[in-house]
Parts: sequence; C-alpha cells; structure tokens
Amino acid sequence: MDKNELFRNIPKVDVLLERESMAALIGRYGRSLVTEAVRTETEQLRRTIRETEDESAALAAVAGLEESIARRLEELCTPRVRKVINATGTILHTNLGRAPISRAQAEKLADIVTGYSNLEYDLEGARRGERYAHFEWLLCRLTGAEAAMVVNNNAAAVLLVLSTLAAGGEVLVSRGELVEIGGKFRVPDVCRQSGATLREVGTTNKTHFSDYEEALGDETKAILKVHTSNYRIVGFTESVPAAELAELAHGHGVPMIEDLGSGVLVDLEDYGLGHEPTVQESVRAGIDVVCFSGDKLLGGPQAGIIVGKKEYIARMKRHPLTRALRVDKFTVTALELVLLEYLKKESVARNVPVLRMISEKEPSVRARAEKLADMLRRRELRADIAVAPCQSQVGGGSLPLERLESAAVTLDPWQMSADALEHAMLALPVPIVPRVAEDKVLLDMRTVAEDELETAARMLGEVLG
Ligand SMILES: *Cc1c(COP(=O)(O)O)cnc(C)c1O
Repeated sequence: MDKNELFRNIPKVDVLLERESMAALIGRYGRSLVTEAVRTETEQLRRTIRETEDESAALAAVAGLEESIARRLEELCTPRVRKVINATGTILHTNLGRAPISRAQAEKLADIVTGYSNLEYDLEGARRGERYAHFEWLLCRLTGAEAAMVVNNNAAAVLLVLSTLAAGGEVLVSRGELVEIGGKFRVPDVCRQSGATLREVGTTNKTHFSDYEEALGDETKAILKVHTSNYRIVGFTESVPAAELAELAHGHGVPMIEDLGSGVLVDLEDYGLGHEPTVQESVRAGIDVVCFSGDKLLGGPQAGIIVGKKEYIARMKRHPLTRALRVDKFTVTALELVLLEYLKKESVARNVPVLRMISEKEPSVRARAEKLADMLRRRELRADIAVAPCQSQVGGGSLPLERLESAAVTLDPWQMSADALEHAMLALPVPIVPRVAEDKVLLDMRTVAEDELETAARMLGEVLG
C-alpha cells in the first residue's frame, strides 16, 4: 500500500471547508466548531493511515472523512443528559433522577420558566414578595405545621436547621440513627459542618428515654431524631417515640428536630405497603422542626422541605446560609404544582407519578408487560421473549424491606450474552436501563410508562432486530 499516495488524498483544511457539504455544516454549527472538527478528524485520519496495514480500511477512512466530521459535530452538540427508560423497577432511582414529574406538570412548568413570573413579587401589594409564599400555605395546610420553607435538598435542609438552631452547642442523637445516606450524606458530618457538636446517646440497637434525659445539659441546644430511611435494625431493639422526646426537649426549653428523609404526606398503608411515618404525624407529635426531601416519596422536584414552628422557621429564613441554599424558579414552580395535587385526595395517586407507580397493582403492570411482549414478538426479535413475575422496590432510601409484586418482560438473546445486551441497550439513542438476572435481561414494567412502550419496542428492535 502506498501510504504517501493516501496522505496526498487527504484534502487540506481550507480546501475541505470550501466544499458544499461543509457549508451546510457551517450553517448549522458555525464556522469555528466545524473548523475544529475538520482539524481533529483529518489528524485522526493521518494517524489511522500511519498505523494501519489494511489498505481497504485506510481507503474507507479517507472516503468517510466528511461523514466522520458530520458525526463528530452531531455528537458534540447532543445533550449528555438524556431521557432514559427505567426498566429496573426501582421507583425512586437516585442515579436515574429520582421522582419523575407528570407531563401535565411539566407543561405548566414550561409556561412559567420560558417567561417571567411572580417568583419573588407580590402582585397584590405591587412590591417585592417571598418565594416561599407560593407554597408555604399549602405545606402548612397539608402537614398541620405553622410555617414552612424550602431549600435545595434535604441534606441542605438538615445543615440549615442545625446551623440555625444548634451551632455552638450540642445536639443529641441516638446511636441507632447515625445514618449514612447514599452520596456521602452522613449525620455526624453534617452536624460538624453546621458548627454543632454531636452528642451520641444510647447504643446501636437500644436507646432509652433515660439516655436522652441523662445527656441533656447546659450545652444541649436541640434533640434530633433521624429516620433510618435505608436500613432497619430488627430484633432486640428500642427507640423513643418522637412525642416523648418532644416533651423532654420542651421541658428543657430546646427544640425537637426530626429529619424524616422521605417525608410522605399520604398513608402508604392505603396502598398495601408498610407504614412509613408521615409528616403530619411528626407535626402532631409536637416536633418543632421537620425536614424531608421533595423528590423521594413526595414525588416532586429535588428540594429540602422544612416545616414547623413559626419562630424557628423565621430564624432559618433570616440565616445567611439560606441565600446560598435557595431554590430556583424551576423548583418553586414544580413543587407548588405537585403540592396542589395533594389537596385533591381522591386523585393524588393518579396524578403524582411516584404514587401511581407505588400503588399500581400487579395485574395492571402485567397487562403492560404483555402489551410490550406482543409488540416485540411482532418485530420478530432475535431473542426469546416472555412475561414473568418479579418484584420492584421503592428505592431512594425508602421502605428498604418492602417489595412490590410486579411483572417483567424477559429477554433471552440468541446471539449475545445478557450482559452484552444490557450494554447495547444502554448505548441506544433512548437508553433502556434493565435488570440482569440468571443470564436474562429483565424489564420490570412497573417503572415503564404506557407512553414509553412504543419507544422501548423501537429501541429494542435496533439491538435485536
Ligand atoms: C435521603 C435522606 C437525606 C438526604 O436527602 P436529599 O434530598 O437527597 O438531600 C437526608 N436524611 C435522610 C434520613 C434521608 O433519607
């Protein structure tokens, strides 16, 4: 093979840029991006020719130069954050963006964020307003609390609460509640960061009322209860009910704080699940400040919601950290929309996607699995396709021991391993994230919506067609 001849066949950058195909690209991407792509791809081509001994591969690379420039530009300008289809069955999947919001909510949200809004403007008084005002009344009405505010996420909420109420003093926490939540949220670390000193009471499995009583002293600025979201200590255990701790704290003149983690507003027992403490219960038990996530069981945007006594919330609103942790218009709008759904008790489980997925019964999930399986069989994919029972989980550090009876489409590919199919599915234009078990790919249909079936079938056709 005559490599010099091949090198001579590579057009010069400025010659290439004059071509009609490049003019079209310049129209779409602009001159500087196209010039950069042309340089990178011609250099790549030189490297390929230098390194290969395969003449036909080298010739193909020369012939494909313009195409590879176009491809590079398209890849560069495609957003890296993409829609994926969650076929894992884990409803609150932190790696996949936790709670989805409904399309109806997203459309209303688009209306607000594509223009200006009264985010911090009081339309009645024609003056500056408070961004919490839009949903503070809603949070109070739904939880029974006196006041409420919201920051970026629950980790920020815990930090703000402790910084405001316990900095420079001690905060009492049971040893059984010193949790680590995925992503480096550790109660002792947040405590330190807030300037409060953690005072551990009791033991891992048992903490008594007297443990708190004995630890209370002049240094104590608050008692903190943390919901052990993502694990359970079972067997020989004891913890002190929040109401008793609240009484103890009040007797000592300090606030009782609770980090609820998921913070659900509905009784999950109504949906056949185990009991998850509700925000209303905590408020009723006399807890002064309760914080929880917006995008766990609540099913809203990422947010840290703080509800409680007016005097404490007012202090937090004035704390300098609040400005650094404040929520933007996307969050404010999406949160108000999801909270409004909770006013309508009969329809909330239909209109909040997380609650809909949690409450969906197995036959209904199975019907969707059968539908997708039929669509795939019609495409004559190169895989054995079946519908099988499986179990979903709530995820997001909520209800760690609960399993929901569900249904999956199973794919047993003829010409590749299940792992290879999984990787191919993740590389699709709309990636599908499945589960893999016993050398089969499982699509748990609980977390795949009806309006995603068409796309899922088309995507699977690309890898197995
Ligand atoms: C999830 C969780 C957090 C962190 O909440 P984010 O909204 O993810 O910041 C804090 N505390 C508990 C108990 C949790 O379960």
